[in-house]
Amino acid sequence: MFADRVLSGMRPTGRMHLGHYHGALKNWVRLQEEHECLYFAADWHAVGINPARATIFIQSRVPEHAELALLLGMIAPVGWLERVPTYKDQQEKLADRDLSTYGFLGYPVMQGADILVYRANLVPVGEDQVSHLELIRELARRFNHIFGREPAFEEKAKAAIKRLGSRRAKRYEQLRAAFQEKGDEAALTAAREMIDAAQNLALGDQERLFGYLEGSRRVILPEPKPLLTATPRIPGLDGQKMSKSYGNTIMLREDAASITKKIRTMQTDPARVHRSDPGTPEKCPVWPLHQIYSDEARQAWVQKGCTTAGIGCLECKQPVIDAIIAEQEPIKERAQKYLDDPSLVRAIVADGCERARKLAEETMRDVREAMGLAYT
Ligand code: SF4
Repeated sequence: MFADRVLSGMRPTGRMHLGHYHGALKNWVRLQEEHECLYFAADWHAVGINPARATIFIQSRVPEHAELALLLGMIAPVGWLERVPTYKDQQEKLADRDLSTYGFLGYPVMQGADILVYRANLVPVGEDQVSHLELIRELARRFNHIFGREPAFEEKAKAAIKRLGSRRAKRYEQLRAAFQEKGDEAALTAAREMIDAAQNLALGDQERLFGYLEGSRRVILPEPKPLLTATPRIPGLDGQKMSKSYGNTIMLREDAASITKKIRTMQTDPARVHRSDPGTPEKCPVWPLHQIYSDEARQAWVQKGCTTAGIGCLECKQPVIDAIIAEQEPIKERAQKYLDDPSLVRAIVADGCERARKLAEETMRDVREAMGLAYT
């Protein structure tokens, strides 16, 4: 069992291209080796996301997302939502679309519910999304502050410490002191892991011990932390961001002849009109592909060959073509099984939805109880 739980999702916008692969999926494959992972939407296991390791599900099949979003909406100050940079940004950019809806303003609350309903403590994000996650952390904090109160909290927390057993209780007190007196974050993490692993504790006691580490409230919804991941931005065939709407994509599972043709006809540094004209890799959209697909020696070969006109552009592109085709081989092979029998995909998703719902239901039981909504 892993100590951390990672949650990540992707909008199902059609067939995947290399931008999705390098921007997210490759990272997901790696993360499933290190953490318990939940990924939502479908059609992805072909790239190596393993349904035995990661839970793959569809958001709308877990109605607890919507229930938690509704409840969080009751405590989310409108001012917080209006301040979200993307809210204003998108409203200006997409002025022709009607974005003055309650749903659009509340989008970060829905995202918060997506994460908090699984009590995920790690969310893979890029630098630009950290502020988004900060809002979700604030929502969780606010929820715990309002609903995590309980009479005689301190006594109950102390009783829970005793239930840890004397050795672990002593360790808990030491770690708590290290965090509270010296701000030692590593001690906080170690204490959380210890509580997480304490199988004999009831959930309420676990929440108290989490809360007692930092203050005087139960932690019903833990604050998720960003898992900063540097994912390379893969350029499209024209050097812009790779996107279906720009028509500049290489798809995952594209056939080799088509990949070859697309890259061979890709733009290069405009200074290289003739084979004998030297160029500058930094001005060429092929160069970022070499940075992803080529090792240092190959990159040095490109730099030297391009700037001295020692190599031609087609020669320079060939290793990238070979690397992309090689990368797609195993993906195609794995996908074939599911293309031949789509019921396998349905079974994986049904199983993932069930697993996800179980986790979400556990959280909602505590949320309802804390909010006084648990009627029996
Ligand atoms: S040699 Fe390579 S890097 Fe230089 S312009 Fe041609 S394709 Fe681009």
